[in-house]
Amino acid sequence: MVPSPATIMRLRYFVRVGVRIAGAVLVAFSMVLAAGVLLGFVSQFVSGQGIRLGFVLAGLLTVLGPGMVGLLLVALAPKVARWLVPIPTYRCPQCDYPLAGVTEGFCPECGLVLGEEVVEAGRRISAGPGRGG
Ligand SMILES: [Zn+2]
Repeated sequence: MVPSPATIMRLRYFVRVGVRIAGAVLVAFSMVLAAGVLLGFVSQFVSGQGIRLGFVLAGLLTVLGPGMVGLLLVALAPKVARWLVPIPTYRCPQCDYPLAGVTEGFCPECGLVLGEEVVEAGRRISAGPGRGG
């Protein structure tokens, strides 16, 4: 099965949205945990046990870590999508010659007979609008 450029773009869109949602969930999760740590700090302060600032800071850093990762995920979602869903380059299985634009039923470099599917894919890649993205 050979994905068309439109299929690749659609896949990338879904990956991008998925990564953004995952990042947002991480940020929200981290916010809730941070709120918990702050509440613990406040209750400690109110009950007069004194302020253990180092403990609070360590707790905040620990719970904010996933949030940082989440923010990174949201920011880098397009890059992640490009990385996870690359635009395939069709190459001859025998000599690695790039087959985009090849319309004959054989590799122009080594003469290997190609399946109709490979030829069709090369035609689509060379004709498709899928550049960059
Ligand atoms: Zn070849």
